[in-house]
Amino acid sequence: MTIHSITWLNGQLLPTGQALIPVNDHGLLYGDGVFEGIRFYRRQAFRLQQHLQRLQLSARAIALEIPFSIAELTAAIEQLIAAFADGDGYIRLMVTRGAGPLGLNPKSCSQPNVIAIADQLAMIDVGHQQAGARLIVSSVRRLPADGLDPRIKSLNYLNHILAKIEANHAGADEAILLNAQGRVAEGTADNVFIVRNGRLLTPPCSEGALEGITRDLVLELAQADGLETGEQPLGVYDLYAADECFLTGTGAELIPVASVDCRALPSCPGPVFLRLQQAFRRTIERECGGIL
Ligand code: PMP
Repeated sequence: MTIHSITWLNGQLLPTGQALIPVNDHGLLYGDGVFEGIRFYRRQAFRLQQHLQRLQLSARAIALEIPFSIAELTAAIEQLIAAFADGDGYIRLMVTRGAGPLGLNPKSCSQPNVIAIADQLAMIDVGHQQAGARLIVSSVRRLPADGLDPRIKSLNYLNHILAKIEANHAGADEAILLNAQGRVAEGTADNVFIVRNGRLLTPPCSEGALEGITRDLVLELAQADGLETGEQPLGVYDLYAADECFLTGTGAELIPVASVDCRALPSCPGPVFLRLQQAFRRTIERECGGIL
C-alpha cells in the first residue's frame, strides 16, 4: 500500500509535492534551521512534548524564534496525524531561518518557515532491523561542541551523511562516529548502547551524542527493570568487546547490532536487548494505545 505523504506548512495542510518554500530559504542555502523527528502510533504522537521542548531549545541556541507557540505546534502535529492515511508514521518537523539575501547573515531573513512532513520511515532495511545491523566505525568524526554543540539538532547533517556513505561503501548498515578524542559518540541518527558483564552502558552526551529521547527512555526502562546502567566514555574496543550492542532513536526505534567492523557480537538480539525492546513496546502501548 502506498501512503501519500502530507505536509503542514505554516498553518496549511498540503500534499507534500505541493508544499513549497522559496529557494533562497537559508535552511536550503546554509542548513540554517533546526528539526525534530517524531513517531506516531495509533494516531498518537509519542513523547511529543519532549520533542517540542528540544526543538525550542535548539532554536533558542541558534537565536531562531519559532513563530508558533508549543500549543500551536501541538495542534499542528495533531491535525497532520489526523489527516495522514495511516495511524502509524513518522513526522519531520523543521524550522528554517526563512527566505533572505544570498549571504549567510540571518539578520535580513524575513520569516522562519515551519514545516511538518508526515510519511513513513525505515532507518535500515527491515531484514537487518530484525537480524541485527552491521556497523562500521567511521573515519568521520562527530563535530566537537566548540564547533557545533551536538545537542543542537540542526538542519546540517553533512558529517553524519559522510559517515553513512562510508557505511554504504563498506556494505554495512550504519556507522558509528567517534568524537575528536577517538571515543564513541553516536550513530548517524541514533544513540549507541552496549551491554558488558550485565551492565548497560552508553556514552554521556558530553562525549558528542545528541540527548536522545529514546536514549533517556531506554535508560529509565533499564533502571526500572533492575539493570545496572552507566553513562561513561567508551572506546572502539568497548564496542568490539561488548556482549550486546544496540542503537536507539525515534527513527531507529531499537535496533540490535550484529557486528562492528566485521567482528560478530556474541549475542544478537541479546537477552537484555529483548527485555528492553519489550518494555519499549509496552511504553508505546501504554502512551499511544498502539502496538509495533
Ligand atoms: N543522534 C542523532 C544525531 C540523531 O539525529 C538522533 C535522531 N533524532 C538520535 C541520536 C536519537 O535521538 P531520539 O531518540 O531523540 O530520536
